[in-house]
Amino acid sequence: MIEEELLAKYEAVIGLEVHAQMLTKTKAYSNDINAYGARPNTNVSVVTLGHPGTLPKMNKKTIEYAIKLGLALNCKIANHQYFARKNYFYPDLPKGYQITQDTTPICTNGHISVTLKDGTEKYIGITRIHMEEDAGKSIHDVDVYDTLVDLNRAGTPLLEIVTEPDIRSAEEAYAYLTEIRQLVRYLDICDGNMEEGSLRCDANISVRLKGAEKFGTKVEVKNMNSIRNVHRAIEHEIERQILALENGETLFQETRNFDALSGTTSAMRSKEAANDYRYFPEPDLQPLFVSEDQIQAVKSEMPVLPKALLKKYTSELGLSSYDANILISAKSFANYFEELITHTKNYKSAANWMIGDIRSYMNAKGIEIEEFSLTPKKIAALIALIDAGKISNTIASQRLFPELLNNLEVSPEELAIKNNWIQDSDEGSIKAIISEVIEQHSAEAERYKNGEKQLLGFFMGQLMKASKGQADPKAANKLMRETLDKL
Ligand code: ADP
Ligand code: MG
Repeated sequence: MIEEELLAKYEAVIGLEVHAQMLTKTKAYSNDINAYGARPNTNVSVVTLGHPGTLPKMNKKTIEYAIKLGLALNCKIANHQYFARKNYFYPDLPKGYQITQDTTPICTNGHISVTLKDGTEKYIGITRIHMEEDAGKSIHDVDVYDTLVDLNRAGTPLLEIVTEPDIRSAEEAYAYLTEIRQLVRYLDICDGNMEEGSLRCDANISVRLKGAEKFGTKVEVKNMNSIRNVHRAIEHEIERQILALENGETLFQETRNFDALSGTTSAMRSKEAANDYRYFPEPDLQPLFVSEDQIQAVKSEMPVLPKALLKKYTSELGLSSYDANILISAKSFANYFEELITHTKNYKSAANWMIGDIRSYMNAKGIEIEEFSLTPKKIAALIALIDAGKISNTIASQRLFPELLNNLEVSPEELAIKNNWIQDSDEGSIKAIISEVIEQHSAEAERYKNGEKQLLGFFMGQLMKASKGQADPKAANKLMRETLDKL
């Protein structure tokens, strides 16, 4: 670790390049199945291999997905586009080139605002989003002697999202990636799984003296397989660059590899050794024209986005932003809540059940909300029972909820009745018990009358005992106090 003082002398400048693998059924320019985890080299046709005489064909879905993301990130959508060939040799790139978009990316000039830990909003510009295809995968760690090649991934559609150099810390990068991942999941265009590589991030990092106008020399760091590791890589890289500069060294533009084990970066290749990709317009694909109607059609089918839900939950439903953020963290979780609040108007209680008992249960079982067996309607019925004073919160949470999970066919009310958990909040019957209890304990009643108000607890204990725990404690407490005070 380096000293705070040194860190404070410098400012980091960071731009992120994110690759999101699109969740299409087939690949970007062929009919090969696009699926993770299939047997190696089974989803590979001659188009993917770029055999002479074969022609790529645009997958329409990828355009729709790109527009969706572009709209969500406030981008301008380009009407006229063409594809470009990026030429390079790699064992897992059978065609010898990648089809991408070079000078005419489908989305440009966007922005996103992310919320940091201290609640401040950070604005991050989106330079561009373009469509391209992925390469295959070289596998170095399965065979002792050889590198294996799996071409299933070759030709799968990617969206590359490039930010402006607006990011200033590892924390901001972390918040940005968390929001991007949440966004692509809400849009259903990418599963956002960084461990499996369907969402990947390269971080461009430089440092400059605070107050300096010119950016420093940037270094690109690759191979972080989690958002946490992007954070670690950036923190490390900032310190490394500051120490180098303080040492009088000159930084040069290079690509560095992040090693998760040590948490450090090491040189991969310098800019001088970088490829000249010889981009040229892809001759096998027609230029793409995206009409305003097409853009409008995508717009009209946009799902509700997390930001909008957050606003609804805090300003319309009156929930805290802490609660709201947990509810929107995953789309499926938010969907459950959305359905739940169609059955109950007690939003706070609905949120509490989801954030409390339901989430604890999911965590304990290691399941997602999709696998949770109680319907939103049932949870709403449970909330209604509590609100009607028929069962106590404690009974609901500790007894009825777990019991419901074991009796999926039965309604909460039936189960509560069957187990004698229904509490009595009927004034008449509670009053009768109160009279009885006071009569049996006239000495204590006298003491209460003479000012020993703490005896209320004693009387409540007697009342709950006499009602065999069935009296609604809230109603009983109120009635008991009233009765005693009138003595
Ligand atoms: P390259 O041509 O090397 O790919 P680009 O200009 O396309 O560089 O930028 C790639 C990414 O690097 C973008 O996200 C951009 O915001 C970021 N970037 C550019 N200059 C710097 C810099 N000096 N420091 C940090 N990030 C930078
Ligand atoms: Mg670039």
